[in-house]
Amino acid sequence: MPKAIVIGAGVIGASIALELARSGYDVLVLDKGAGVGTGSTSASSAVVRFNYSTFDSVALAWEAFHCWKNWREHLGIDLPAYTQLHDVGVIMLDVPVMSIEGTQAHFRAAGIPFERWSSTDLEANATYLDSGSYWPPKSINDEAFYREATSKLGAIYTPNGGYIDDPKLAAENLAAAAATLGVVFRFKSEVTKFDIADGHINGLWVNGEYEEADVVINACGPWSAKVNELAGVGDDFTISLRPMRQEVHQVDTPRGLLPGPIIGDVDLGTYMRPTSNGSLLVGGTEPECDPLEWVEDVDLVNMNRTAERFEAQVTRAARRLPALQIPHAPMGIVGVYDVAADWTPIYDRTSIAGFYVAVGTSGNQFKNAPAVGQLMAFLISHIEAGHNHDEDPLIFIGEHTKNEINLGAFSRKRPYNSLNTHSVMG
Ligand SMILES: Cc1cc2nc3c(=O)[nH]c(=O)nc-3n(C[C@H](O)[C@H](O)[C@H](O)COP(=O)(O)OP(=O)(O)OC[C@H]3O[C@@H](n4cnc5c(N)ncnc54)[C@H](O)[C@@H]3O)c2cc1C
Repeated sequence: MPKAIVIGAGVIGASIALELARSGYDVLVLDKGAGVGTGSTSASSAVVRFNYSTFDSVALAWEAFHCWKNWREHLGIDLPAYTQLHDVGVIMLDVPVMSIEGTQAHFRAAGIPFERWSSTDLEANATYLDSGSYWPPKSINDEAFYREATSKLGAIYTPNGGYIDDPKLAAENLAAAAATLGVVFRFKSEVTKFDIADGHINGLWVNGEYEEADVVINACGPWSAKVNELAGVGDDFTISLRPMRQEVHQVDTPRGLLPGPIIGDVDLGTYMRPTSNGSLLVGGTEPECDPLEWVEDVDLVNMNRTAERFEAQVTRAARRLPALQIPHAPMGIVGVYDVAADWTPIYDRTSIAGFYVAVGTSGNQFKNAPAVGQLMAFLISHIEAGHNHDEDPLIFIGEHTKNEINLGAFSRKRPYNSLNTHSVMG
């Protein structure tokens, strides 16, 4: 049996481990943390939506949605607790940086049901929303932020999509399914060195001990660039990787403020989703008026939410949801994105034979994790069997949707995706 080592036991690593085990690999997962999903996965807002700038990303999200929808079948085991998809739908408000025509064309091609809403439709269907257009987003310290809107927004509505209620439990579910197939998980196990000879990986050192491997997969989330550096890969990447600090805030008053779909609001620079207990989560979409918090060392990030970020994000949310009451004390969490230069992930081999990457998840790949495990197992099996993916990109066919997803779109050597929104929207 060929041996695979997955570095990282987040939602991506756990999913890859499960699918590699299903493909006949003997799998060991190593994580420097204390358990499954303790990295960026546990900070995830776990929003499930289909709006991306390329067809392949849209089709991947639609395929993965069906995995969440059929979660027990996807896992194939009985467990005491399952994470749950809240399939409440998505309202993506219009904004110049996201092509309305392009999104509709991708949705049609992928077979995703949607409705095009005028501002009148938006006001009729989401009476709790302010439909004003405030583009471009402004700092809340700028008096222009408080000006009246001069026009109104429409939206693209998908009746499907929503959120996963417990992202850490999602990773734990995948790990539990993998464990039943013999996958071994080792925690407090930091990979510090690789054994590479003649352009091929043979193994690695973890906590000072040597482990042999036929293939190694870097699924280290925001630590991925550091691990690539350790392996000496990256020179042939056209897309760079860089960690970025993020805050997501919670508002509890009034409860049930967002009764239906989640809201993508790049117009004001936020996204909002309900939680299963009626609170509201508010995140940001990297508006140009806010400083981007690039990170040098992920292990030294300030993991406390700040009053400044809280006020900025929640005040924007209150503009869209006039009934929202801004709490005095900030509540929320801090996480770190693994940002790829064009906000599109890299799922690929590297210049070292046997060393693979599932990285650059750019704050937008939690939703895709179940299908990412499948596409990585597909990619690894074909490349290990001799396929030249760099020259002849593999096509992954979604089990549920039958969509053809060109894995060249996630290549480390792809041309920069110039249609990206320069934000978490991808
Ligand atoms: C605040 C926030 C909000 C988000 N919201 C959404 C959302 O709404 N929707 C969405 O689709 N996506 C979202 N994302 C993105 C999504 O959560 C991530 O893309 C996903 O969780 C990444 O999973 P991962 O397994 O690749 O990384 P991680 O969960 O970070 O796991 C990487 C693991 O690698 C381990 N590791 C690192 N270095 C080493 C080493 N040298 N040796 C051993 N182990 C190592 C770490 O301990 C860690 O456990 C969000 C992310 C954040 C931070």
